[in-house]
Amino acid sequence: MSYPLLEIYPQRIMENARILRQECLKRGIEPVAVIKGFAARPEIVAAFVKVGYTTLASARLPQLAAAKEAYPQLRTMALRISMPSEVKQMVQFADISLESERYTLDLLDQESLLQNKTHDVILMRDLGDLREGIFDAESFYALAEYVEQCQGLHLLGIGVNLTCYGSIIPDERNLGQLAADAREIERRLGRRLQVVSGGSTSSLPLLLQDKMPAGITQLRLGEALVVPCDLIEYWGCPLPGLRNDGLILRAEIVELNCKPTMPQGRLSVNAFGCEGQYVDRGIRRRALLAIGVLDVGDESKLIPREPGVHILGASSDHLIVDIEDCPLDLQLGGTLSFELHYKAMLFSCSSPMIAKTVLAE
Ligand SMILES: *Cc1c(COP(=O)(O)O)cnc(C)c1O
Repeated sequence: MSYPLLEIYPQRIMENARILRQECLKRGIEPVAVIKGFAARPEIVAAFVKVGYTTLASARLPQLAAAKEAYPQLRTMALRISMPSEVKQMVQFADISLESERYTLDLLDQESLLQNKTHDVILMRDLGDLREGIFDAESFYALAEYVEQCQGLHLLGIGVNLTCYGSIIPDERNLGQLAADAREIERRLGRRLQVVSGGSTSSLPLLLQDKMPAGITQLRLGEALVVPCDLIEYWGCPLPGLRNDGLILRAEIVELNCKPTMPQGRLSVNAFGCEGQYVDRGIRRRALLAIGVLDVGDESKLIPREPGVHILGASSDHLIVDIEDCPLDLQLGGTLSFELHYKAMLFSCSSPMIAKTVLAE
């Protein structure tokens, strides 16, 4: 085996995806499967397709192109507002895209007509999280009316993104506003909107508490399907059957010894120009692992699986762990394993320097 090694358990992930799809469907919400967080690994995408997801979504067009090729019968959705420079590929590989700029919508309209297609658009409203979307209500309604008369475009619906930048919690107020926006646009257009897309994993707590405002018809789910640990612990949503061990990252021990816990000499800043946090706990047993920030993005987003293992810090290529309280007989050349939070999944799945293996169970 070559390390670092990412173990992928598609059966476990499939079970998460099945449970969450059921929770959505029984409340009249259609879940879209977001595949960008795990670099659209085909085994995981296949698990989503197997349990019935019919729309695959990503912010990255190469991932949508691959999904389209593997599953021509399914719908693809682009999650990042289109770059004006990519409208050709956008129309080619995404059936649906999230949009907010009239200039880009014009380009998409022209390109769709060139390709003899009708491109579906979900117009994004910014309800306070301050990433993408139109902030002003009247401008939002006006742009919806504008899209409606574009020959190459079909206004499929409206949507919102929350939490990602501004940390705003989806609630009855902001999602209620999105539903109200949909009613206003429907009044102006004189027809129903097919999709009112009420956010991502962070909207699940509201759904599971049965507080999702009426009129929300869709959620775009990525994180919760693969690494639901934040949903379970941080968001307080334990859902029987959900598990976080569909991905396990293994790293090899390259040094094993006892050292002081307080750096010795004059303190400056660490490898990344930051002041470190060090607690003097005397001399303790520790291990140095051959994995680092380059592989996982942020070492605090790793969850040690072996008992008594605590992460002390990391540089680009090394991870330092305290194993004083670990009862296992660890050996040089042995491995320690970790579950992942979203950011560590994001980095490790797309790293070409991490080996991947798919395991049945
Ligand atoms: C990434 C993304 C999602 C999925 O978010 P998760 O937290 O992984 O569920 C949904 N919508 C948009 C616009 C995104 O960029």
